[in-house]
Amino acid sequence: MTTAVLESDEHKALRAAVAALGNRYGREYFTRVTAAGEHTDELWAEAAKLGYLGVNLPEEYGGGGSGIAELSIVLEELGAAGCPLLMLIVSPAICGTVIARFGTEAQKRQWLPGLADGSVKMAFGITEPDAGSNSHRITTTARRDGDDWLLTGRKVFVSGVDIAAATLIVGRTEDARTGKLKPCLFIVPRDAEGFERRHIPMELHAPEKQFELTLDDVRLPADALVGDEDAGLLQLFAGLNPERIMTAAFALGLGRNALGKAVEYARTRQVWKGGPIGVHQAIAHPLAQAHIELELARLMMQKAAAFYDAGDDFAAGEAANMAKYAAAEAAGKAVDQAVHTLGGNGLTTEFGLAQMLTASRVARIAPVSREMILNYVSHQTLGLPKSY
Ligand SMILES: Cc1cc2nc3c(=O)[nH]c(=O)nc-3n(C[C@H](O)[C@H](O)[C@H](O)COP(=O)(O)OP(=O)(O)OC[C@H]3O[C@@H](n4cnc5c(N)ncnc54)[C@H](O)[C@@H]3O)c2cc1C
Repeated sequence: MTTAVLESDEHKALRAAVAALGNRYGREYFTRVTAAGEHTDELWAEAAKLGYLGVNLPEEYGGGGSGIAELSIVLEELGAAGCPLLMLIVSPAICGTVIARFGTEAQKRQWLPGLADGSVKMAFGITEPDAGSNSHRITTTARRDGDDWLLTGRKVFVSGVDIAAATLIVGRTEDARTGKLKPCLFIVPRDAEGFERRHIPMELHAPEKQFELTLDDVRLPADALVGDEDAGLLQLFAGLNPERIMTAAFALGLGRNALGKAVEYARTRQVWKGGPIGVHQAIAHPLAQAHIELELARLMMQKAAAFYDAGDDFAAGEAANMAKYAAAEAAGKAVDQAVHTLGGNGLTTEFGLAQMLTASRVARIAPVSREMILNYVSHQTLGLPKSY
């Protein structure tokens, strides 16, 4: 049956079970925790106990043995219930994948069981103040000192460093300091000497915080390097494709949550004699359109996840970029339309939609902006010339 390829019975059951968990917490929980400056620890722990957080990681290291398709279902459904867990994007999806695919046996044994059972979180740092969208310009540099590495550089906007046991930092070796990026990845423990973080205040209404990082000759043992220092972009993209698929799931969940609130409101809010405001097509059609666009974006996300889980990194790269683009655009429009549907209530704290306006922008900017995806598709897919 062709439908089973997209959403098998197992996937449907997982979707339903995660949605049930998410709905027990809901947006009120998320908002309360965020306002108190706390974290979604209870939800994280319960999701971990049910095996959702490490569903993509190998079974021999405590994971569920499934893939990004399943992890994206977990994130989308928690988001649709109003309580997305942003760290799912970085901890099991990027860091867990990179370690599972390229780590040594010792690194897998050290990190994967904790990432799988949720007791350990890992952040991921690639963005730099002077590189931004142009990762080829990153200057965080590792130089050898005997068997050790000394890592120096700056990162910005790195999420969750305060709650992560370690951060997977993308740098380059001294030998590859200039030219095209030949990235190498280092696990930097949170309390490593010379590893400083500064909280960046953001207007995001989310429990996860962003940080600027300074690495000043941070001494790391030889086994802090994940994978081969010469493997380059291949191992980095092994983590970045899941990141894009998961960001699509994050956006879809957010868009669905906002749309659900708007539909409920449009069904019940009555200001004219003829029925609730939802009878007016000026209200109904944009909501229908938002629903269609979210559904279409999910199809692309499922395609990207299917390629990725089948081991086709190349096809997954293009599809993951397109899925992230489509989901971010769809979520942005859904949230905007939801706010509008509620009129004044769209901006009240009580209805909680206005806070989603900034959140819905995140997926348009991170982990790669919509313009960089349009550039990618222009050059890689359509073969158009490059202007930069
Ligand atoms: C909430 C949040 C969480 C984040 N978490 C992390 C994290 O955990 N780890 C991490 O490493 N990073 C993280 N980031 C950083 C994020 O990935 C970057 O913000 C993103 O890659 C864009 O980089 P920049 O902000 O430097 O923008 P810039 O590169 O300065 O771009 C600014 C604008 O110019 C446009 N632009 C740039 N170049 C071109 C071009 N060639 N053509 C057309 N337009 C162009 C961009 O699209 C953008 O609109 C996070 C960001 C946010 C907002």
